[in-house]
Formats: sequence, structure tokens, C-alpha cells
Amino acid sequence: MSMFEDIPVDVGVIYEGERIRYRQMQVELGGPREKYKFELVRVFPMDEVEDGKVTIIGPDLKDLEEGKNHPFGIYIKVAGKELERDLEGVIERRIHEYINYIEGFMHLNQRYDIHLRLSKKSFQRGFNTFKLLGKVLERLFKSELPIIEKIEFIFVTDREKVKEMYEEAMRIYQERDARARGLTDEEVDTFYGCTLCQSFAPTHVCVITPQRYANCGAISWFDGRAAARVDPKGPIFAIPKGKCLDPVKGEYEGANKAVRDKSLGEITRVWLYTAFGYPHTSCGCFEGCAFYIPEVDGFGIVDRNFRGETVNGLTFTTIADATAGGRQVDGFHGLSIEYMRSKKFLQADGGWSRVVWLPKSVKERVKDFIPPDLVDKIATEEDVSNLDELREFLIARGHPVVERWKEMPAEEAAVEAERPEEGPALEVSMEGLPMAGLPAGMNVKIILKGARLKVKKMIIKPMREK
Ligand code: SF4
Repeated sequence: MSMFEDIPVDVGVIYEGERIRYRQMQVELGGPREKYKFELVRVFPMDEVEDGKVTIIGPDLKDLEEGKNHPFGIYIKVAGKELERDLEGVIERRIHEYINYIEGFMHLNQRYDIHLRLSKKSFQRGFNTFKLLGKVLERLFKSELPIIEKIEFIFVTDREKVKEMYEEAMRIYQERDARARGLTDEEVDTFYGCTLCQSFAPTHVCVITPQRYANCGAISWFDGRAAARVDPKGPIFAIPKGKCLDPVKGEYEGANKAVRDKSLGEITRVWLYTAFGYPHTSCGCFEGCAFYIPEVDGFGIVDRNFRGETVNGLTFTTIADATAGGRQVDGFHGLSIEYMRSKKFLQADGGWSRVVWLPKSVKERVKDFIPPDLVDKIATEEDVSNLDELREFLIARGHPVVERWKEMPAEEAAVEAERPEEGPALEVSMEGLPMAGLPAGMNVKIILKGARLKVKKMIIKPMREK
């Protein structure tokens, strides 16, 4: 029985986090195989929005080739007496949440990176037109955000039209990001938190500050402020900053408390401007990820759109898997492209003077924010393709990390990077675990939190029948 009687599939929060595998999908919309895709919300005057109207440009769901990926754009026009342009980014981010409420519909990422899948099962039950998608979204948006009085949808699958609208969307995202620059973390007494991605990463909490844009790149401090004002009980909330405990690493009393509360005690501290120690958690929809390369004591950065292997032989997916899921993983740091334009970018680790490699397309996007004397010292996939070549490149260009090699031998640098700054290397307690009382044959799962296991020797032998 559906939450909405005229919708052939169920709709509700229980479907958030539902994964649609490749083999289960009727169609894929956007995603890594499509260059052009976007979602965009714009605020209009009341008389320019036709409430409830759904326009489809290109083939509808039922006419899209089964099992294939397709270019896709979602353009939503909203109007309301209280609505301001500042709320566009926040309303836009809710598309992720509400589409995931639909049984058999999966939505990942944001802005120019969206990746959607509709399951065969939901399609066969009759969810076969974007008209239904518009109808569900209209009801959810209006009930959750009553500030929206009128809403109109345009779904685009026509390849040329998606491309044309994508260019326009990119321009608007850039304008939004630029608007949010200028303010510093020291100038405000409130940060904002977001737990929208907890359906996929239950312990993840984004701490959004003026100089640390959200991981997904879709929510600035200004967006956070606007969202918390119009929907104080929603997933975006105010964090009183509290005392600054470490201005270099970016540790704040209020941020620690917020992540502790919202992660239900799983995460107890967060350092906002470093990839070591207690780095900001990552959900999985970050735009890019910084990864420590111990061989050169520097950072590589890879974004979601980078195909192929990074300089240390790992792909974006492997690196993302190593850090996603709401964990704090030493040496990995999920981030937004906009954060790379911030003065606080990896501040405690050396900022840009510690970055040694990144994809050319990302370098182009943030070039104006890299200190001019470093631009040519940071390699891209066009300069080097492995770590040996990277070392040579860094020496030849006089990258500042080379100086660090003299201070610390490479093997030690690797060990140093893996060692937490505080506490013993291994802290495991079995106290209170009633092992003796467990029924015979019962499986026990032991989770070693924060433990580091050292393996001196590993022997792999084939299993033989006795
Ligand atoms: S990445 Fe962070 S800010 Fe963006 S939607 Fe997820 S939790 Fe919210």
C-alpha cells in the first residue's frame, strides 16, 4: 500500500539508502558514464511558476532504452512569498533525499554529478513516467518545506538540451560559490551541521563553516544558515561554535559536541583543517578526496570525474571506498572543490605546499587559488604516471615537499602518517563482554575501534582437504 494511493510504488523514509545494482536497473540517469547531467533549483516570481506542471524534454522513462544510461537534467522552478535566492542550494539538495524516499529509485551525489537508477521492479509496477516523479516530489517538497507555495518541474533526457542546460547550471553553481567567499571562520560564532547523508553513512556529520564548504560542494555556510532558519527541525542545524581549541587544526568545542551528539557517540572529535588525527568524516558523496602518499610525504587529490588510476595506482572508487561511510580515516579527506579555494584548505598539513598531484581538470578549476609559485610544481596525469616519475618531477620543479624528505626519511614519513598523535597505538578492551555466558556455537562479532594491527609476516597457503 503506497503512502500516495495514485502512485504505484511505496514512498517513505524506509527506502532511503536503498541501493539499485546494475543488474536490477531499468535505466540509469546521469552517472559516471554520462558527461552531461545536472539538477538545479531556481526561485521565480509567483506568476512565473505553474504549480504542479511537469514538462518532459526528450524521451520519457518508458521510452528510454532498458538497461542503459542516459543524459539527464532536473530543473525545478519554485515560488513563494518568503522564498529567497539564498535557499536555492538548500532546496536543491533535498532532491537527493526525496527521490530516495521512492521505492526502487536511487539518487546519488548532487549538482553536475547526479547519478540515478530506477529499478526494473518499480518500473514494472507502473512507475514509468517522469510525471509520477514530479507528482511525488511536488507533495514532498510542499509538505516538508511549506515556504514553497508553487513548484514546477522540467525533466530533460534530450542529449543536446541536457548539454545546453548543463552549461547554464555550471555558471549558476559558480556564482553561488563565489557569493559565499570572503567570510572567515573567526568572524562567525555559529557553524552549521548537516546529517542529510546519514541514510547512506549513519555516523557522518558535515560541519559547514564559512571556510569549509560541505563535502558535497552543494551547501555553503550561507546555505546552512538559510536552511536552519526556515526548517530548524530539518537535517541542517546550527552549531554554536564554542571555544576554539586549536586554530590550526580547526578544533572547536561546539563542533565536537555536535558530531558527538549527531553520530550518537561514534565520532567524538573533529579537526576541520587536516587529514590526520581526527579528520572530518566522509559520507561518500564528496566531490573529491585528498589522499596521503607516504612515498613522497605529500597529498594527491582525485575527483569523482577522474577516470583511470591516480599517480599511486588507485582509482577514485578505491580511494572513496577507503574513506566513505562516516569514518575518520587517517590520511584521507573527502572534500569539495570549493574547499580547495579556501585559505583553511588542509591548513594544518601545509595546504597547497603539501599537494603533489591532482587531475588536470581540477587544477584548471582551482588554479587561481593555488599560490602562483606552486602551480607548476604540482603534477597532473599529463606530467607523471607513477610514483617514480612523480619523485623526479617534484625534485626537478623544486616542490616544497622535497625539503621535507631531507628532514625525515621516507620510511619514517610513512610510519609518522599512520601514527595517531595521541593515545596508545592499540587500545582494545574486552571488559564487560560476557563471553562465558554466550550459547555454544553463537557467532560473535568483535569490533576493534581505532585499533591498528601490525602484521610482521603474512603467509598464504592453499587449503587442502584433510
Ligand atoms: S555531504 Fe554533507 S552537507 Fe552535503 S548533503 Fe551530505 S551531509 Fe549534507
